[in-house]
Amino acid sequence: AKAQGRNQWCLFDPQMQIQLEHHAALTAALRDAVRLEQLALHLQPQMNAAGQLVGAEALLRWRHPVHGQVAPDLFIALAEAAGTIVPIGNWVLQQACLQLQAWSRQPELRGLKLSVNVSARQFKQADFSARVLRLMQRHGLDASRLVLELTESMLIDDIDDTVAKMRALHRHGVRFALDDFGTGYSSLSLLRELPLQVLKIDRSFVRDVAGDEGSATLVRAIVALAGSLGLQTIAEGVETSAQQAALLAQGCHGYQGYLFARPMPALRFLRWARLRARR
Ligand code: C2E
Ligand code: CA
Ligand code: CA
Ligand code: CA
Repeated sequence: AKAQGRNQWCLFDPQMQIQLEHHAALTAALRDAVRLEQLALHLQPQMNAAGQLVGAEALLRWRHPVHGQVAPDLFIALAEAAGTIVPIGNWVLQQACLQLQAWSRQPELRGLKLSVNVSARQFKQADFSARVLRLMQRHGLDASRLVLELTESMLIDDIDDTVAKMRALHRHGVRFALDDFGTGYSSLSLLRELPLQVLKIDRSFVRDVAGDEGSATLVRAIVALAGSLGLQTIAEGVETSAQQAALLAQGCHGYQGYLFARPMPALRFLRWARLRARR
């Protein structure tokens, strides 16, 4: 802290200054990321309890010529703050449709579901549902192949609008997953009100599920809660076969994590799925 004129003092931390400037540069660069084709969707396999490939989550990657590969948690937060997440999110949805189209030409991938993360700013756009439906129609896709992943915090401030948007899409077959379940503040009544089909069990619960009795009990309670609401569960961040076995014992439906594969480019995903199908 340094004394400074009328404001009495201000915090001056050169490290923080450098970070702020870096974030400002990234925020500016994000505006051109779509146009300059710096974005890519990677795919991470999702397995069922029998170990079969049933879908994938699309995870966004940004490689900038100067800044290099930027961590998604960082650039998505910056894009959300600046509003550029809306055009970026639209690009993600369009790419997801192209991906589903490509899959329908591959026998090994034809039936897979594709999960797409949706940000708060994007979901709050008045034309969000219409846009998704238009995209699916334009690409000749069955809407039930698409799963939209939403987080708890983004759903609560206008619950009527949220429910209306979800219903409009679900009528056509689009499915909804509640991401990072257990980390937010959602009430049980919210879970009942929303037309959800899937709960994604957050990695923080999965991490200790094999070793810690408390985590295992919590996971069992989440799976039971989901079951009583007619929802499926997908565990995220499954890294070990001990975790997989513990989750299986609790009745979890879906599995995603480094144990199976890291997120990878589409072509590698196709090769991975083919190898897996031959085993
Ligand atoms: P998320 O939706 O919770 O995605 C799961 C994150 O966990 C991904 O990080 C994934 O790479 C990572 N992960 C998967 N399996 C494992 C595992 O076994 N162990 C560990 N330690 N990590 C695992 P990623 O790709 O860095 O993405 C971070 C976050 O960025 C995502 O968290 C999501 O909130 C956001 N995100 C990614 N793509 C998009 C997008 O297209 N749109 C929006 N709005 N957000 C996105
Ligand atoms: Ca997700
Ligand atoms: Ca998640
Ligand atoms: Ca997470």
